[in-house]
Amino acid sequence: MTQVYNFSSGPAMLPAEVLRRAEQELTNWHGLGTSVMEISHRSKEFMQVAEEAEQDFRDLLKIPANYKVLFCHGGARAQFAAIPGNLLGNASSADYVDGGYWAHSAIKEAEKYCSPRTLDVKTTLDGKRAILPMSEWDLSDDAAYVHFCPNETIDGIAIDEQPDFGNKIVVADFSSTILSRPIDVNRYGVIYAGAQKNVGPAGLTLVIVREDLLGKAHPYVPSILDYQVLAENGSMFNTPPTFAWYLSGLVFKWLKEKGGVGEIDKINQAKADLLYGLIDKSDFYRNDVATKNRSRMNIPFQLADASLDKVFLDESLKVGLHALKGHRVVGGMRASIYNAMPLEGVKALTDFMIDFERRHG
Ligand code: PMP
Repeated sequence: MTQVYNFSSGPAMLPAEVLRRAEQELTNWHGLGTSVMEISHRSKEFMQVAEEAEQDFRDLLKIPANYKVLFCHGGARAQFAAIPGNLLGNASSADYVDGGYWAHSAIKEAEKYCSPRTLDVKTTLDGKRAILPMSEWDLSDDAAYVHFCPNETIDGIAIDEQPDFGNKIVVADFSSTILSRPIDVNRYGVIYAGAQKNVGPAGLTLVIVREDLLGKAHPYVPSILDYQVLAENGSMFNTPPTFAWYLSGLVFKWLKEKGGVGEIDKINQAKADLLYGLIDKSDFYRNDVATKNRSRMNIPFQLADASLDKVFLDESLKVGLHALKGHRVVGGMRASIYNAMPLEGVKALTDFMIDFERRHG
């Protein structure tokens, strides 16, 4: 069978080693004669899985003791509602940095609960799409918090600067970049991420929340989105997505074995350099994001002749390079190259692109 490399933006590729392990133990997990999906989330066996996964995640991101880690349902979009619900308090406004599609979607949801103050940080640099540096973000004094998205999965734009906004509560949607590079958790009030890109299967959402922000939820916030309720119940107020939790735990162990976030950071840089390097050298492929804001996780690119898009997608699929179609709002191509994508996968893609250009350019 052709070696397949899956460039899907999410649900995305998982490490092959993790899938093999899950396959081996699927029907007889830990000698129980049943799968991990079929046992109680409160059983001692599952509790051990849950605790180990949390500890490994904490180790990987060096999460300080005064932060809770919550294993939630509902994807990142549920967090778009949970954030204002938990953090607004008596305030009527929060600062929302609009850097792309997902940051904008968070604003739309927040409008149901408050009057978000939108900061449009999109700009251009040498004719390419870029984001204003954080020092130029015009934050307000009375905002309950500031929300931003460090990696725009669709736009292929990243904000790699780490926030340094004094006492302001910084909230960030790390859905498509969590665990891809080291971050200083201390700079954030809340970090959240849907699992289905860099962590594990869809259905699980990770939330890292500073303890002093718990217990402030609006009375109408559903209990399953109330951080205090989730924290008090060890993320088991209701039945958690146990299989996704277990599989994410395997991914955390895989990442630790690879040397952790510091090591994967270097590999991610090498992968991105390889693909952007090829795009920049060629007149046939184009990426229109300024270098300093280029995402290392989601790399959109256009062909000089858009009428070749379909041929490109058909041919790439035939050689095992899957899911390269760009998002419908952007068009063209997009290669999502999260932690689980090996360097060889990106090499296979660039080899194909060079050959495609030679034949069609
Ligand atoms: N934020 C970002 C950055 C995303 O990439 C996505 C999903 N592509 C979402 C939010 C929405 O996530 P979910 O589908 O898990 O609600």
